[in-house]
Amino acid sequence: VEKIVKLALKRADFEKIKQHAVRSYPKECCGLLMGRRDREILETKEVIQAENVLNSPIAFEADAELVLKAFDKAGKAGLDLIGIYHSHPNIHACVSGRDAEIMKLWPRVAWLIVSVSKERVVGRKAYMLKGGKIEKLEIAAT
Ligand SMILES: [Zn+2]
Repeated sequence: VEKIVKLALKRADFEKIKQHAVRSYPKECCGLLMGRRDREILETKEVIQAENVLNSPIAFEADAELVLKAFDKAGKAGLDLIGIYHSHPNIHACVSGRDAEIMKLWPRVAWLIVSVSKERVVGRKAYMLKGGKIEKLEIAAT
C-alpha cells in the first residue's frame, strides 16, 4: 500500500518550475523531480526541466533521451524519480483525462501540476495514483 502523503519541494526548486511554466506559456512545460522517498514524504532534491516534444498547449511528452540521461545521472547520485511536473496554461491544476491515462504508467510518482496564466503561476496541485485511485498529495514548500 502506498503511504506517501506529501511532496516536499524547496522554494528555489518551485521557483525553477514556475519560471519554466511562464517561459513555455502558452505551451505546456514538463520536467522531472528527482529525490528520495522517506516513509510518507517524497523529498525533491533536484528539478530537471525537460523539453515538451509535443510543443502543445494541451499536452506534453518529455524528450525521451533527456529522461534517460536524467535517470542515469540521478542513479549515480543515489536519487530516484519521485515526480513529474507539467503546466496547464489557462486552466486549473486538475488532472485531465490524458493525465490520468499517463499516470497509470507512473504509479509511484507524484504528479505535480501548475496552473499558469499569461505571466504567472496561479495554482499548484500534486496527485498520486494510489490503488488505482487518484489522490491529492500535500505540497510542503521548505
Ligand atoms: Zn495535464
